Amino acid sequence: MAATSPFIAGNWKMHGLRTQLDQLRILADGLEGHPSLARVAICPPATLLAEAAHMLMGSRVELGGQDCQSEASGAFTGDVSAEMLADAGARLVILGHSERRTLHGETDAKVSAKVVAALRARLEPIVCVGEHSDDRKAGRAVRIVEGQLAASLPDRLAGARFSIAYEPVWAIGSGVTPSSHDIAEVHDAIRRALMARFGEQGARVSILYGGSVKPDNAAEILRIAAVDGALVGGASLAAADFLEIIAAA
Ligand code: PEP
Repeated sequence: MAATSPFIAGNWKMHGLRTQLDQLRILADGLEGHPSLARVAICPPATLLAEAAHMLMGSRVELGGQDCQSEASGAFTGDVSAEMLADAGARLVILGHSERRTLHGETDAKVSAKVVAALRARLEPIVCVGEHSDDRKAGRAVRIVEGQLAASLPDRLAGARFSIAYEPVWAIGSGVTPSSHDIAEVHDAIRRALMARFGEQGARVSILYGGSVKPDNAAEILRIAAVDGALVGGASLAAADFLEIIAAA
């Protein structure tokens, strides 16, 4: 593991009403005195951020958004800026998630602009990359991911804290995960690309795996030397499951 301590981040996606905030309290309480040294973050919908920030104050749980606009403010109905996320209490933001890339047509260039916006608002980006299943079948997973990294990461990241999440699109929400060998191959390629681009800093960037991480496969995935943590979707919604994954880190 290149980064100092494992990093486990949860992505609630478009799930969660205020009544579900009790899961955050259970998570924060469960981490008090918890033996795991993992860094823990949760990214709920933007509507819950301010209340979640209040609830998590003084806890080990860091808070993140799931996306942001690249502009700070303006006529962008329905969008949320990085500054707004930070104002609501977020310290991190997931960018370039495959659901944004696929369902909202986000290009690498757009993701890169959002990373710049996140840094402007002092948010720590978690930048997602990952191949579609036809890319994997055609043997071009590494090439696709290298291309996404090259174009989604702005030079502005030099000296900034950020993480990469490798999330094969076909593994997200499917219950199917790549083999340990395939995860390691892509993570190693990401590390090489980060070091070529950012030098020594690239050796310290956390590279998370994401895609159907569950309590029953977390230990096996987090045991892979090239894996520095996990980005967890569905299994982060229930605090008990998320705590089990954290315990495996
Ligand atoms: C995700 O949303 O980033 C994700 C990895 O989802 P899941 O864990 O549900 O596959």
